[in-house]
Amino acid sequence: MLRNIEAIVGEIEKAKNILVVGHIMPDGDDISSVLSMVIALERLGKNVRGVIDYEIPAYLEEFPGVKDKIKSYDCIKEFPAELIISVDASSPDRIGRVYDHFKFARSIVIDHHATNTYFGNINWVEMYGATAQMVMRINKMLGVEYDKELATANLLGIATDTGFFKYSNTDATVFEDVAWLVGKGGDIAFISNMILENRPLEHILLYKDFLDVMKLDYNNTIAYSHITLDMLKKYDIKPKDSPSFVGDLRSIKGVEVAITFTEAEENEFHVSMRSKSWFDVSKVAVHFDGGGHPRAAGFSINTDNIEKTEQEVIDTIKKLMESYK
Ligand code: AMP
Ligand code: MN
Ligand code: MN
Repeated sequence: MLRNIEAIVGEIEKAKNILVVGHIMPDGDDISSVLSMVIALERLGKNVRGVIDYEIPAYLEEFPGVKDKIKSYDCIKEFPAELIISVDASSPDRIGRVYDHFKFARSIVIDHHATNTYFGNINWVEMYGATAQMVMRINKMLGVEYDKELATANLLGIATDTGFFKYSNTDATVFEDVAWLVGKGGDIAFISNMILENRPLEHILLYKDFLDVMKLDYNNTIAYSHITLDMLKKYDIKPKDSPSFVGDLRSIKGVEVAITFTEAEENEFHVSMRSKSWFDVSKVAVHFDGGGHPRAAGFSINTDNIEKTEQEVIDTIKKLMESYK
């Protein structure tokens, strides 16, 4: 892997106009990885743009620097990128229309998903807890100085992708990196306030309706539910700001697999899956053309009958669970 990192650092040093791209339906690690790469490259004097071809949810858009440094697709149409760096995306479809620009530039993929398809000219794929940890390593090798702003931006992704340092991906490197970032001024209390203590009341009210349509299966070891556009409309929540309750379902005693189906556009659902200790949800995701990690994975599916689709997904999971016996 060291050769890949050195090659990436070499490419960045050579290039002047650099595009940093994150994935659609952005999460904290994605935003953090784009933001901390953009801040670092700006400090090196590069002409750099951060881009995500998808709306950014409000709770991440409010994070310092995001509005200023991460733009929508239209803002990069004319950007003369020589080098494109994709962070936290496992396959080309995850970066939307930005992938069209791969034809015209050198490309680097930095990612921590086992399901990565190696779609760049140089690919560094390693099973870190967060892509933000990998960005931190590149930035350090480039000789970028860390201050409070950059350390806090970089810390965000490590905090969110590890569930604030408690999921099974929380290894020693996570604590080492967090200790280093906090030493540089990374403000973990600020991040936890922004992410955890900032839930809109409408999300809590929606949770009630979400629980009303929750179902349990396979001896109460599978919990699942859905959020439709109509359910969001009732509380005036925009689809891009739809909350994720999948962790709440997983936290139920005895539940091994939790699944939520969230309508993102009419008849198009994002499926989020989590497992507690042994079931590999990334296998289910890949089966439905998605991806992810053993304990957290997802995919998108079109359907005009959500109950029927739920049943299809649950049946696939049950079959896979049987195969573990
Ligand atoms: P989510 O349930 O959306 O929080 O996603 C859980 C994990 O699965 C994250 O690491 C995502 O990057 C990954 N993931 C979600 N949806 C997809 C998809 N359609 N294709 C590939 N990976 C996905
Ligand atoms: Mn990630
Ligand atoms: Mn992500």
